[in-house]
Amino acid sequence: MMATDQGSTRKEFRSTARLKSVMAQHFHELDRAAQEGSPKIAWCTSVGPAELLRAMGFLVYFPENHGAVLGASRKAMEYIPLANALGYSPEICSYLTSDVGAYLKGETPLSRSYGLKSVPRPDVLVYNTNQCRDVQDWFHFYGREFGVPVMGITSPRGVEEVTEAHIEDVARQMKALVPALERISGNSLDMDRLREVVALSRRCSDLWKEVLETASHVPSPWTFFDHTIHMGPAVVARGTREAVDYYEELLEELKERIENGVAAVEGERHRLYWEGMPIWGKLRDLSTLFQRLRSSIVASTYCNSWIFTDFDPDDPFRSMAKAYTNIFICHAEGWKEDYIERMVRQFQIDGIIFHDARTCPNNSNTRYGMPQRLEKRLGIPCLVIHGDLNDLRCYSEEQAVTNIEAFVEQLEER
Ligand code: SF4
Repeated sequence: MMATDQGSTRKEFRSTARLKSVMAQHFHELDRAAQEGSPKIAWCTSVGPAELLRAMGFLVYFPENHGAVLGASRKAMEYIPLANALGYSPEICSYLTSDVGAYLKGETPLSRSYGLKSVPRPDVLVYNTNQCRDVQDWFHFYGREFGVPVMGITSPRGVEEVTEAHIEDVARQMKALVPALERISGNSLDMDRLREVVALSRRCSDLWKEVLETASHVPSPWTFFDHTIHMGPAVVARGTREAVDYYEELLEELKERIENGVAAVEGERHRLYWEGMPIWGKLRDLSTLFQRLRSSIVASTYCNSWIFTDFDPDDPFRSMAKAYTNIFICHAEGWKEDYIERMVRQFQIDGIIFHDARTCPNNSNTRYGMPQRLEKRLGIPCLVIHGDLNDLRCYSEEQAVTNIEAFVEQLEER
C-alpha cells in the first residue's frame, strides 16, 4: 500500500517526507511492542474492524499492506512457490501466497525499509470476509503458526443495497468479538475511546476523499500512481491523529498545485479510470507509459476503497458495520456500475482500464460482462488488461503496452 519505487517522471510531493515518517512510526511502534510484549498486537484485514482494535489498546498490523510491499519490491515471485509447496494454490490471492512464502523464508522488506528483523508477532488475528474468503484462510495459517486466536466477521457479499438486517448482523458480530479481545488486550472496552477513534477514522476518510477529489480538476494535480503511494496512512493509520494531520498537509499541497496550474501529466490529453487491483511491481513502468501517452489516470475503485463516509462516532458499532458492508467490493454488479458511472461523470473520464487480476477474482470486475455493459451505457471505451497484483508471471508487459497504446490511439481518434 505504499509503493516507493516510482519513476523519475512522477512529480514528487513535499509531503512525502511526512508520509515516510508516519509510515516509519507505524512500523517502529509495532516492532517495539512485539519486543516488549506490550501493547498487544492485532493483525487486521485491510477493511476489518481496525477502529475497535485500536480503541481496545491494540497496535494494528495489516498483512495486506505487507503483501503490497512484497509486490512493489518484485520479490513476490521468489516467495509464492514456497506457499504453493504447502498446498496454497498459485490461483489464490497472491498477497496471501507471497506473504506466507516470505514468512517461510524468514524475510521481509520491512527490514530494509525500517530495520525490522521480522513482521511483528500477533497476539490475535481479526478478519472480515467483506472483501474475500482468502483473508480468513490467510489468518488461520498464522493462527496455527503462532498459536494465537483467530476471530472474525462473516459479511454479506454481492448485495444490491445494504439493509438494516445486514447492519444488525455485522454490528452484532463485531460486538461479539469484544469479550475475547478484552481478555487478550487486558483492557475493557471504553465507549468514549471507541467514539474518539471512530471520529478520527471518519476525519481521515473525509480527508482521503477530499484529496482524491482534487483529481477532478483539469488538468489533474496527481494520478493513480501517486494515490497508491499516499494511501498508506488511510490504510494503516486510520483512527490516529497522525493520519489526519498528514492528509491535511497533503490537501494543502494539492490545492497549491491546482492554484499554480501544476499538472501531474504534462499536456494531459486523456483522463482515465483504473478499475481493479494495482499491478504493484509495474507501477513505475505504467506511470512512465501513461506520462508518455499524455494520459492521466485520475480515479480508481481501489484507492476509493478507504473512503468510509458512514462512520458516525455517535453510533460506533452500527456505523462501523454499515461502513464496512457498504464498500464497493461487497456489492452486486448493478450497484457497481452505477458507482463507476458517478465516477466517470465526476472526474470527466474518457476511458476505463479494467485490470483482470488473475489471483483476485474479488477485485476483478471483468468476468460477468461489466466492461461491455459500461461501454454501451456510458459511450466511452473500456480496455481489459490481464495481469495480477503481485504475481508478474501472469502479466505480459508487451501485450499490455501494445493494448494500452492502441487504446489511447482510439481515444485520440474520438
Ligand atoms: S481482495 Fe483480492 S487481493 Fe485482497 S486479500 Fe482478497 S483475494 Fe487478496
